[in-house]
Amino acid sequence: MRYFYYIFLFFFLSASAQTERFKIVLDAGHGGKDPGKVHRKIYEKDIVLKIVLLVGKELEKNPLYKVTYTRKDDRFIELYERGAIANKAKADLFISVHCNSSPNKEAHGSESYVLGLHANDLNFEVAKEENQVIYLEKDYKEKYAGYDINSPESFIGLSIMQEEFLEQSIQMGKRIQNALAENPLSRDRGVKQAGFIVLHQTYMPSVLIETGFLSNQAERDFLNSSEGQQQVAQGIVKAINNYYHWLKNNSLLTKDSSSTDKGDTFYRVQIATSNKNLDAIPANFKGLSPIFKEKIGTSFRYYYGREIDKRKIENLLQIAKKKGFTDAFIVPFVGGKRSL
Ligand SMILES: [Zn+2]
Repeated sequence: MRYFYYIFLFFFLSASAQTERFKIVLDAGHGGKDPGKVHRKIYEKDIVLKIVLLVGKELEKNPLYKVTYTRKDDRFIELYERGAIANKAKADLFISVHCNSSPNKEAHGSESYVLGLHANDLNFEVAKEENQVIYLEKDYKEKYAGYDINSPESFIGLSIMQEEFLEQSIQMGKRIQNALAENPLSRDRGVKQAGFIVLHQTYMPSVLIETGFLSNQAERDFLNSSEGQQQVAQGIVKAINNYYHWLKNNSLLTKDSSSTDKGDTFYRVQIATSNKNLDAIPANFKGLSPIFKEKIGTSFRYYYGREIDKRKIENLLQIAKKKGFTDAFIVPFVGGKRSL
């Protein structure tokens, strides 16, 4: 009897360990027909892929993590698709890896970007260069309607999604910067905010790393060496481990979505986040009803509907989108608490 009990316990524990894994999506920038930055025949797409594969290999050794890649070889992936891969994986963290470039050959060091409005002209130029790739994509006008990559203002109002994750994204970015600063050549250029399209598409804390400048000879040689790639990868892994423990210590780890079909579970459609304290009445939300308000720090989340049935909440999501809340999304609640 006891024997069966242990077998049961083993399966129970391994099943629960499986479902609670922290999901990380690793995104090697560029690929295929898009080389990214090119200096002296050194391609950004090749360097970032090598770094990402090293990061993934290391993370996969840890049973706490589940790793998904946007690409594992030299292929072209649209920016939109990268976000879709992360959203589909229900990732807890999205890390996009890139290399920088500057007309100033002296410029060097690493910087981490989160999506935010505290951007300046310099940050805008970095984002603009990384965003150019949409011109290589089919139907980019339809897919990225609303984005004008030449205008920083076009990103304002589009960032409701990432605003929610801003604090966690910054915490991740800081850890990356600290870890990369340990490399012999690195200079910490800080965590910055700008309008990267790839970060706009994801529904989770997201950071884009500019690991170093290919326009700087010493840094290019470092990033192009297997030792340099190994060091950068180790820094990123260290930062992810550190971030994971920070989430855990602050009870910020998201609960597993597969557990949401039992117990006191329901769904709502989140339609907005705002610093304004609005009355939760239909008149303030294009006639949608019922509306629920939740206070988070100094800001407010606004939800539409409450359903136990996933299909019913999906209908409400469509209604909200048709009313113009195009960034609306479904949030599961478990035991009365948001679990996403
Ligand atoms: Zn890039």
